[in-house]
Amino acid sequence: MKVLLVEDEKKIADFVCRGLEEQGFQVEHCGDGNSGYERAASQQYDAVVLDIMLPGRDGLSILKNLRKQKNSVPVILLTARSELDERVEGLNLGADDYLTKPFYVEELVARLHAVLRRGEGERLSILQVADVTVNLITREVMSAGDAVHLTAKEFRLLEYLMRSPGRVYSRTQILEHVWGYDFDPETNLVDVHIQRLRKKLGLSREDTLIETIRGVGYRVRKD
Ligand code: CA
Repeated sequence: MKVLLVEDEKKIADFVCRGLEEQGFQVEHCGDGNSGYERAASQQYDAVVLDIMLPGRDGLSILKNLRKQKNSVPVILLTARSELDERVEGLNLGADDYLTKPFYVEELVARLHAVLRRGEGERLSILQVADVTVNLITREVMSAGDAVHLTAKEFRLLEYLMRSPGRVYSRTQILEHVWGYDFDPETNLVDVHIQRLRKKLGLSREDTLIETIRGVGYRVRKD
């Protein structure tokens, strides 16, 4: 599988290239927006991994122009934690998914496999398990037909678990992903937020939609 990486930060570009190549991807790299756009528009790729802030043309403008030309190559955006508006705009412009920096290369590999599996026309904008849905574009959450209002952290937590139903995440993984790297590993932040999420989603005590795995962490059950 051939992937184009458009990323100006050398450190990130290096670890992504190395990580993807180890997983059997063929990677081409562009360090600025203009050459990135030219390559993406003129060559055939199975997927494009696109940073948003780039010298020259920015990632969203590249994406917009590709879609304008009816180029439907799967695009995964790399965004900074603070770029919420850009992320939403990117999904609206037809990005297939996004990853927030910092991320693990394994996560990018999983997302790439997912977009390649989905293929054309089936964009990832809604996650659903049982009667809970999460709309990644409008950020609306519904449970049994009712709108649920979540804080930014609660949303991020639910989104994280719902992206991989059945997969167990440790408290440390959840802390790193939802809260970033500065945390006290002894904190009960995760447990408190899981309780709040269950309550807001109207899950009863017996409901295993968000399941506690004793001594390990949590998972959203597979439908
Ligand atoms: Ca950048």
